[in-house]
Amino acid sequence: MLFGDLREKMNPMKKLIVANWKMNPQTEQQAIRLARAEDQKGVVICPPFPFLDGVKGKLKKADLGAQDLFWEDPPTGGGPYTGEVSVLMLKRLGARYVIIGHSERRRWLGETDEMINRKVVSAARGGLKVILCVGEPLSVRKKGLYAAKQFVKSQLRKNLKSVRSPVIIAYEPIWAIGTGKPDRPEDTLTMVRFIKGVAGSSCRVLYGGSVTSQNVKSFLCYKEMYGALVGGASLKAQEFRKIITIVKKL
Ligand code: PEP
Repeated sequence: MLFGDLREKMNPMKKLIVANWKMNPQTEQQAIRLARAEDQKGVVICPPFPFLDGVKGKLKKADLGAQDLFWEDPPTGGGPYTGEVSVLMLKRLGARYVIIGHSERRRWLGETDEMINRKVVSAARGGLKVILCVGEPLSVRKKGLYAAKQFVKSQLRKNLKSVRSPVIIAYEPIWAIGTGKPDRPEDTLTMVRFIKGVAGSSCRVLYGGSVTSQNVKSFLCYKEMYGALVGGASLKAQEFRKIITIVKKL
C-alpha cells in the first residue's frame, strides 16, 4: 500500500485543517467543550498554552498543536528564559505540531525572521511538525503578485535557513487575516505554486485568511493545496464542523 493510500485509509479527510484559537477561549471548560466539538481526524487544534493539557486529555481523533515555542532547547528543557516554553515541554504535553512566525507575533511581539528561523530549527530538531506562517502586507500586495512573491521568497529564505526536514508552510496574506476579506483562490494558487518552487515541490502548503464554510471549497479544491489554517471560524463549533464536512467530501 502506498503511503498516500495508507494516509487516506486512516484519515478520510485528505486535507489538513488547523484550528488556531489564538488567545481564546477564556476558560478551560470552554476550551474543552470546543475541542470536543472539533475533534476530527485531519484536524490540528492549537489552543493557548494554559489549555494544552486539558484539551489533549479530551482529544480522541484530532492532533494537538501549540501556537508558539522558544528556540532555546537545552537537554533538560529548562533555562533562564522568563515566560518561554520549550520543545520538550510541548512534546511532553502531547503536542505534535507548532505554529511558528504567525503575522500577529511578527507584528505585536516584534518577532524577526532570525528569531523565527531559530524557532523553526529548534522545533524541527526536536521532532515537532512545524507550521511556518508567511505572507505579505497589503502595501506589498497592492503592487501586484510579483511583489508578493518577492516578499514571501525573502521570508522563506530567511525563516528556513539551515532547515533540512520538511515543514508545512501556511500562506497567509496579512490583509486577509481576520478581515472577512479572503484572497482570490486563483491568486492563492499562484502563490502556493511559487512557494513550492522556493521551498521544494514536496513541501505542503496551507492557505489562511478569513476561511469560512462559504469559501473553503474554492481554496481547497486544488490538488496543490494541502489544507487551511482557520482562525476566527475555528472558535465557532458549528461553523468549524461545516468546514470539516465540506473538506471531507473533497
Ligand atoms: C489566522 O489566525 O491565521 C487566521 C487565518 O485567522 P482568520 O481565519 O480569522 O482570518
